[in-house]
Amino acid sequence: MESLFSDQDLYPSGSGNNFADIILPVPIPRMFTYSIPYSMQSEINLGSRVIVQFGKKKVLTGIIGIVHNKPPQAYQAKPILEVLDDTPSVNPLQIRFWVWMAEYYFCHIGEVMHAALPTGLRLSSESKVQLNPNFNREESKYLLDTREILILDALDNQPELSYEDCEKVLSIKSIHPILKSLVKKEAILIFEKVQEKYTPKVETRIRLTPEIATSKNALQEVFDSLAGKAKQESVLLKYLRDVPVLQKPQSNEKGLDKATLLEEGDSESSVKTLIKNGIFESFKVVVNRLAEEEPESEPAVLSSSQQAAFEEVKHQFESKQTVLLHGVTGSGKTEIYIQMIREVLDSGSQVLLLLPEIALTTQIVTRLKKVFGSQMGVYHSKYSDNERVEVWNGVLSGRFSFVVGVRSSIFLPFDSLGLIIVDEEHEASYKQFDPAPRFQARDSAIMLAYFHQARTLLGSATPSFESYFNASQGKFGYVELTHRFGDASMPQFHLADMAADRRKNLLKLDTTRVLREKIQDALAKQEQVLIFQNRRGYSPYIQCEDCGWTGQCVQCDVSLTYHQFSEELRCHYCGYKEKTPSSCPACGSTQLTTMGMGTERIEESLSLLFPEARIARMDLDTTRNKHGYQRLLDEFGSGNLDILVGTQMITKGLDFGRVTVVGIWDGDRILNFPDFRAGERAYQQITQVAGRAGRREAQGQVILQTRDPETQMYAQVIKGDYFEFFNHEIHDRKKFYYPPFVKLVKITTRHADFKIAEKAALNLHHGMAEIPIKKIVLGPEKGIIARIKNQYQFESLIKLDRSGNTPVIFKEHLWKITEELKTRPEFRSVRFVVDVDPS
Ligand code: ADP
Ligand code: ZN
Ligand code: ZN
Repeated sequence: MESLFSDQDLYPSGSGNNFADIILPVPIPRMFTYSIPYSMQSEINLGSRVIVQFGKKKVLTGIIGIVHNKPPQAYQAKPILEVLDDTPSVNPLQIRFWVWMAEYYFCHIGEVMHAALPTGLRLSSESKVQLNPNFNREESKYLLDTREILILDALDNQPELSYEDCEKVLSIKSIHPILKSLVKKEAILIFEKVQEKYTPKVETRIRLTPEIATSKNALQEVFDSLAGKAKQESVLLKYLRDVPVLQKPQSNEKGLDKATLLEEGDSESSVKTLIKNGIFESFKVVVNRLAEEEPESEPAVLSSSQQAAFEEVKHQFESKQTVLLHGVTGSGKTEIYIQMIREVLDSGSQVLLLLPEIALTTQIVTRLKKVFGSQMGVYHSKYSDNERVEVWNGVLSGRFSFVVGVRSSIFLPFDSLGLIIVDEEHEASYKQFDPAPRFQARDSAIMLAYFHQARTLLGSATPSFESYFNASQGKFGYVELTHRFGDASMPQFHLADMAADRRKNLLKLDTTRVLREKIQDALAKQEQVLIFQNRRGYSPYIQCEDCGWTGQCVQCDVSLTYHQFSEELRCHYCGYKEKTPSSCPACGSTQLTTMGMGTERIEESLSLLFPEARIARMDLDTTRNKHGYQRLLDEFGSGNLDILVGTQMITKGLDFGRVTVVGIWDGDRILNFPDFRAGERAYQQITQVAGRAGRREAQGQVILQTRDPETQMYAQVIKGDYFEFFNHEIHDRKKFYYPPFVKLVKITTRHADFKIAEKAALNLHHGMAEIPIKKIVLGPEKGIIARIKNQYQFESLIKLDRSGNTPVIFKEHLWKITEELKTRPEFRSVRFVVDVDPS
């Protein structure tokens, strides 16, 4: 990875700097330079939040990114108006990381800041003012001037005002001196609207009053006084049962939360009476949303091959910053991670473990929680913002020295990482697709580790081409685990020829004979079955048999997907939906049939073929709510289901001992996708889903249905020969100039008018063709989907030479070209979306 800036730019030596570059939450290419008033010199820290004026009217909150002594050349620097933080919100390593990310992924640092801070800490809105509740206006009347009084009057009517509102109240341009004076007089408070969003969770707890808790006699008296008052007595007994006051008087201090006390049907009014009579008291505490758990199990003892791999990883870390751990499915990579994490934590450094999508890998999280308990934080994509802020603060305070999280957890405020582990490092979901920054979390993690002088461990059974290539070049270390843990053997493959079965009349509802037989065997032995169907390009749609009509989205150029369950047609790009028509809207025919084969249809076919089996389906539809995924997994894990039909979700890290048969419904559909990564992805997906089979004693059976059993890649997957597959594919990558041999940049030009979008894209193309560097410019072509949300799209693909600072030069020119184009009136509302290393 190129390092695109030098340390000297960021941390100039010497004090008495006169200028600060501020990261602002607006889409401008760079930080903006402000002057540091002399009086503020001592308050200026990297990472602190400040208030500055931006443009003519706006007052924004930003973060200090750099301090230096160079006045800006193109404009007169305005002074920083206010420093908000005593201690910085963001540490220097984070800022360095943001700067790198904006550079590398061709986006604005404000956009990185926006992605990095949880909404609860985000600084995108303007500052607001409110009355200071402690201010006594009567007493201070003589201190205020007329304009200040006008502002306070306005705040009497409206609890909060923005800077702009205040300017309107006084009809003047620069409101800041007045507000500043009001702050000094302690008449108003300035706050961040969004920061207010964070609300600590408060719990009401009940305890005995101290006099009673510390004296057995007093307690006895209380009991006597409650004779005949059964309800109150019951509450007291419940309390004493849960809080052992008699044995341990200090246990009374924490008390019991009110909800627990009332849980067995005791009435709130009894509790109130007890409080009124001075027996109980109630108090409030701020509690963590994230439950405390103590470790409950020791790490497993490593097998000899795991131990050897563990030692080898450590050995390689002595000379390599990054190591790829290539271990077949079921080899027990998690246990090796656990040992690594333990050692690094013991040495006093922090650890981050990245997982593709935590909701999809709860098994591993549960396993880790058992070992690491409450020093481990979990950063979930389905968490509420409050929960995220708590993880953030937990990292800041040192409560969490270890975090397991999804891709956005690379932005947490770590200050001393020792190790980052990227599990399933090949996963496409590590790439953020929209909005900017369009970062690859694996690649970014390697850079983040570099800034911390930490190590990165990449783990996968099917490494990405990039990582495997880097390992083969000696850039990364490489450690292999070729056997499954324990007695488990690798699964046995069967290529099931659908075309042959069709000819012989053996194909029933798209199942081959061998698939049916294997399922039948498993059911007879009370074993479980997973059926996988690739999601991409596989949505069922409705077509008229008479005229060929298909439902199209009104805003996008895609067919609407048919959802049998809700009887709707839906657009998967923009969310548009309509009721499924009962007759063809074009010709009126009632002969509408479902085309394509989604998991819903497969589930239906299987229940016709195996009426006695208990079948469920796992896909985006059935797991939409927060617990849907977990519920299905629990059902399946406890043996209440025989067959689980699913999309990509069932391929990821699931470890169920009773699964012996895995059916891949349509292998060809995985492979036939117009993308240079299609082969790599298909290899990965088939190997991963096959890896769910036979993870204990019984050998797994994998049935791969195909119309083309001769496909070379199938043979390589079956042999488990990643190396052969890689060598074959990498040859094509080199020949046709694809990553890892070039760096790809995709630029999408968007506009509501087809002609304008096309013209802008062509102009961009000509501009890019003239940039004096080694490169290939392809396109512009209509996007795979030509129109999304009423925006037409054209895509250009640029293949850049990886050497030297080609990307930097390219980027500088690209900015100029797009900026110049956007100054032309006709292209004013054209958008250019840049995606570096698209996936
Ligand atoms: P991978 O992530 O490499 O596919 P897992 O970490 O899920 O493999 O391990 C596969 C199975 O083997 C799991 O059920 C795990 O608990 C078990 N296992 C792996 N290593 C050990 C060990 N050293 N001791 C006990 N069980 C282990
Ligand atoms: Zn029709
Ligand atoms: Zn749409």
